[in-house]
Amino acid sequence: ALPIIYAITPTYGRPVQKAELTRLSHAFRQVPRFHWIVVEDSTARTELVARFLARCGVPYTHLHVFTPRRFKRAGMPRATEQRNAALTWLRQHRSRRDSGVVFFADDDNTYSLELFEEMRSTRGVSIWPVGFVGGRAYERPLVSGGKVVGWYTGWRPDRPFATDMAGFAVNLQVILANPRAQFKRRGSQPGMQESDFLKQITKVTDLEPKANNCTRVLVWHTRTEKPHLANEPKHRKDTVAIEV
Ligand code: UDP
Ligand code: MN
Repeated sequence: ALPIIYAITPTYGRPVQKAELTRLSHAFRQVPRFHWIVVEDSTARTELVARFLARCGVPYTHLHVFTPRRFKRAGMPRATEQRNAALTWLRQHRSRRDSGVVFFADDDNTYSLELFEEMRSTRGVSIWPVGFVGGRAYERPLVSGGKVVGWYTGWRPDRPFATDMAGFAVNLQVILANPRAQFKRRGSQPGMQESDFLKQITKVTDLEPKANNCTRVLVWHTRTEKPHLANEPKHRKDTVAIEV
């Protein structure tokens, strides 16, 4: 059987949350052997997300962990605790017998179905280009002789792994074999989460280039505009309560 793709999605309550999750689910439900680990940044599982997941047509696990307020400041890495909660769940609920690939799928990105075909064969850690990051149209690993030899990026090319969260996947057995590997807050500079994590589990020379030797963009770091809600009524609300 194909290895199961475990997509880890941190998500938090805001006006566009359900729209984002809906868009993601439309891609994910077309991917065979797929398991969606949705981790809410909240003190409890919310009704909105629970109801959504129950109806979305994607096999899922619904977790939550609240980010402490002191970590919710500009310039601080986002969703560290949520991604770690998902890694903990995998380590508790999956074993040496399970074949799988783990991928970090933020809720606002755009995913090509081909991306999942590419990552499915990840033996250790695989890597590919990502659109709209690093201050450029795309960022990508430079590949020579089937190995990553450098990075095409507009931002901090000195990063050990100049990739975005959406630019790599990890075999489930690598996650299980490195039980202490996790995303760090302490000592992690902004934009260094990916490098800090990857250096705990792999080396640049061991990375497996995907997407035609990292020459195709199959995922985009899109960001959703905040909807204009200045005309929301303060008192005379609608006659029915409608979930958005
Ligand atoms: N996120 C979260 N809590 C927050 C902010 C973000 O769980 O307080 C999630 C968000 O839903 C997304 C991921 O963390 O899945 C990355 O956040 P965002 O897309 O805002 O980061 P950016 O695209 O700006 O790097
Ligand atoms: Mn984002």
